[in-house]
Amino acid sequence: MKVLIVDDDATYRRLLTTILVTKGHQVVDAPDGHTAWEMMQQEPFQFVITDWMMPAMDGPELIQRIRDANFPSYTYIILLTARNARDDVVDGLEAGADDYLTKPFDLGELRARVSIGERILNLETRLREALEREQVLSTHDGLTGMLNRRAICECATTELLRGGRDGKPVSLVMIDVDHFKTVNDAYGHLIGDQALCLVSNLLNKGIRGYDWAGRWGGEEFLLVLPGADMKEAGQIAERLRQGISTAQLPLADGGQIQLQASFGVATFCSDYDPSFDLLIRQADEALYCAKNRGRNQVCLFNEDDQGCGQES
Ligand code: GH3
Ligand code: MG
Ligand code: MG
Repeated sequence: MKVLIVDDDATYRRLLTTILVTKGHQVVDAPDGHTAWEMMQQEPFQFVITDWMMPAMDGPELIQRIRDANFPSYTYIILLTARNARDDVVDGLEAGADDYLTKPFDLGELRARVSIGERILNLETRLREALEREQVLSTHDGLTGMLNRRAICECATTELLRGGRDGKPVSLVMIDVDHFKTVNDAYGHLIGDQALCLVSNLLNKGIRGYDWAGRWGGEEFLLVLPGADMKEAGQIAERLRQGISTAQLPLADGGQIQLQASFGVATFCSDYDPSFDLLIRQADEALYCAKNRGRNQVCLFNEDDQGCGQES
């Protein structure tokens, strides 16, 4: 663990450094609160041991600044003080210290209190990692690793609001794998799952860095293309359609499966309210046109005649 020691007394800095380095920690020191605060802003330390009385900036003020800064991970702080009156200890803890030690301190007590800090920081790290895992699970699809329906809806809503504000178009592309039931029926669900992962990979690789791709459900996918007008979105969809129709899923017996998909495109242009529900209905309608016209094609929703055009 990286520990920052802050003390204007060089003897204490050396003593603390020796003890902590012996315990296997990496130690950096600072002679006053001001220097320590500048170091914290460059690289926040998770563990700080600070003296109370120092020139430039004292311990409680340094602690207060660290607490106000809200660094991404918790900073465990031990306040070292020559004072031991009950009120002073309370002041130090109220400033945000986690623990305190009175000088001159007992070596065993210092080690024990550092161990408490380590335990708390380890707990905090494990809790943060668990929350991050939970966040990934709640926003991603278990099979393909794509954004799940709720997450892609949130992305679309955000992009539509941004597009509305900036006067830029946003396109949605709804994709449905053609005759997917026959893949499951002929080769089984596990191969069907592999086929969905293949389509997901092709979609992820084929979109631009600022586009979003998600699994809408079953064998349906949704793309959110910020800044793309209908023509551009149609071209992107056509490129993806060709990619899917020429890809092959290899089978264990040496054979391979050929897949196809239908695409429906709808575009929000800044002349009407950016409603996600409306745009999804339009993309869905365009997708049904693509299905009705024979599948394996891209259809564009045409708001003028409420019908659909074909991407050529
Ligand atoms: P269409 O061209 O009209 O879209 O025909 P389709 O067969 O693709 O459509 P249908 O809605 O009849 O069937 C979709 C199939 O997708 C049925 C369902 O079992 C399968 N499916 C949905 N989710 C999964 C999945 O996670 N894994 C697998 N293997 N199959 C899935
Ligand atoms: Mg379907
Ligand atoms: Mg289908």
